[in-house]
Amino acid sequence: MPVSVTAVPCLSDNYTWLLQDEATGAVAVCDPGEAGPAIAAVERIGRPLDLILLTHHHGDHVAGVAEVQARCGGRVVGAAADAHRLPRLDQAVRPGETVALGGSRAAVIDTPGHTVGHIAFHFPEGGVLLCGDTLFSLGCGRLLEGSAAQMFESLRRLAALPEETLVCCGHEYTESNARFALTVEPGNEALIARAAEARAQRAAGRPTVPTTLAQERAANPFLRAPDVARLAAIRTAKDNFR
Ligand SMILES: [Zn+2]
Repeated sequence: MPVSVTAVPCLSDNYTWLLQDEATGAVAVCDPGEAGPAIAAVERIGRPLDLILLTHHHGDHVAGVAEVQARCGGRVVGAAADAHRLPRLDQAVRPGETVALGGSRAAVIDTPGHTVGHIAFHFPEGGVLLCGDTLFSLGCGRLLEGSAAQMFESLRRLAALPEETLVCCGHEYTESNARFALTVEPGNEALIARAAEARAQRAAGRPTVPTTLAQERAANPFLRAPDVARLAAIRTAKDNFR
């Protein structure tokens, strides 16, 4: 049975993700960087919260955890390797382990690069990937702690998931990512189409995500980089892009 997923905008450009296991109704949120929007989303469903999933320790992904848990319940799940700098974890997980949401299970994937302890959650039945600040639509996370080699391996792991996988990332960066991506691959038709789609989505006040892995494989220059050197070069160019 699938897992349904909804983007909940918070802060200036973050997304908390609301998930529901359709077989059991079990509910999760991922990366509540702000309590209010996450609580409102859970209360609209009208069930207690089962899980609070955390991809990494940055404040814009975890600042709402204590208040959400106090109000809605939910077990806090995050990387064992980063337990010392995450909110108090009820379940510390390691890459390769799984997390149950009702009748569905998410695989924990190691995705260092943006931070060294960053993880992603993949629900294979629902085709849902919660990838935090590792993979964005048309972009990837800044290398704040990890190396380009680590990010390359992390992106390769995510790119290997089924092409229909919904990519649920941590930020609404698609339009600005598109401007840079078009300087890297100006003739890429899939990228040109995706940039136009994102512009229309934002003009209509809608999120540009989730996107699909198929779309990112076709249009995202970071996911398409053939080797570490190329990824490092475009990551540096993006850091300096205005
Ligand atoms: Zn971050």
